[in-house]
Amino acid sequence: MEKLSNPQVTIETIKKYNFAFQKKFGQNFLIDEHVLHKIIAAAGVTKEDVVLEIGPGFGTMTQYLAEAAKEVIAVEIDKTLIPILQETLADYDNVTLINEDILKVDIAALVEEKNGGRPIKVVANLPYYITTPIIMGLFESHVPLDNITVMVQKEVALRMQAEPGTKDYGALSLAVQFYAEPYIAANVPPNCFIPRPNVGSAVIRLNRWQNPPVEVKDEKFLFSLIRASFNQRRKTLQNSLVNGGIPVTKEQVVEALERLSLSPTIRGEALTLEQFAALSDILVEMR
Ligand code: SAM
Repeated sequence: MEKLSNPQVTIETIKKYNFAFQKKFGQNFLIDEHVLHKIIAAAGVTKEDVVLEIGPGFGTMTQYLAEAAKEVIAVEIDKTLIPILQETLADYDNVTLINEDILKVDIAALVEEKNGGRPIKVVANLPYYITTPIIMGLFESHVPLDNITVMVQKEVALRMQAEPGTKDYGALSLAVQFYAEPYIAANVPPNCFIPRPNVGSAVIRLNRWQNPPVEVKDEKFLFSLIRASFNQRRKTLQNSLVNGGIPVTKEQVVEALERLSLSPTIRGEALTLEQFAALSDILVEMR
C-alpha cells in the first residue's frame, strides 16, 4: 500500500471516510515524506526501540515508526480515527493502538508492561493545544525515557531551547532544561500539513539527562519560585517573588541574592538554572 505521506493517499483517505478534521483536537496531519524521515532520524529510532506515539491521526508517522522500531504504542483520543488506523496500519503487526486521552494514560505502567521498565522513546506530531502538559507530564511522572522528539509550534520550541537573558527565556525553558537537553532538529513550514496550521512548526529533540544538571532540597519550591519570577517579567526578582505568593520577605530575598553575589534589582530572566537552584536552597533554609 502506498504511504499516507503521499498527499494524494491522505486526500483519498479523507474522502473515503468522509473525515472531518477537528480543530479542538489540534488535527493537522503531515503530508511530507522528507519531514517524516527527518523526525525518525532525529529521534534515532532503531529496531531495539519501543516507541510511544501520541496522536497518530491517520497513521502517517506510525507507518514510518513501525518500520524503524521494534514496537509502537500509539495513543489516539479521536474514536473516529480508530477504524481508519486499523486499515492504514493493517500491514504492521508491531503496533498497539489505544483509544484514550494521553493525559489520562498511566504511561509508566504502560512502559513497565511493554518494555519491562526500560526507557522508551516518545515521538509525535503533537496536538499543539496540550504541548506543555504532555511534555511536563512525561518528565514529572518520571516515566523511563531516552528522548522525546516532537513537532511543536516553532515559538514553543524556541522557548524550550532559550538561554538566560533572551526574550524567549522563561519558566518553560527552565522547566524543560531541568529535565532534558533540548535541540531543534528542523523547522517545518505550514504547507507540510493538511490542513495548514496558522503557525510555523519545529521538530525538537529533548534528551533526558542521565544525571540532572542541578539538585535541590525542594523541587516543588524551585518550580513555584521559577513560575513566580516570570509572572511579571518587567519587575525585579524580589518584587515578583514577594507579590507572587512565595512565602518569603523582601529582606530574605535581598540577603539570598547577596549571598549569591547577585544584584538586588536583578530580574528573573537573567538567572541561570544553577542560580535559581542555589536561590531556592537558600530560601528553603531561611523559611
Ligand atoms: N501524527 C499525525 C500526523 O502527523 O499526521 C497526526 C498529528 S495531529 C497534529 C495530532 C493528533 O493528536 C490528532 O490525531 C489528534 O486527534 C490527537 N490528539 C489530540 N489530543 C489528544 C489527546 N489528548 N490524547 C491523544 N491524542 C490526541
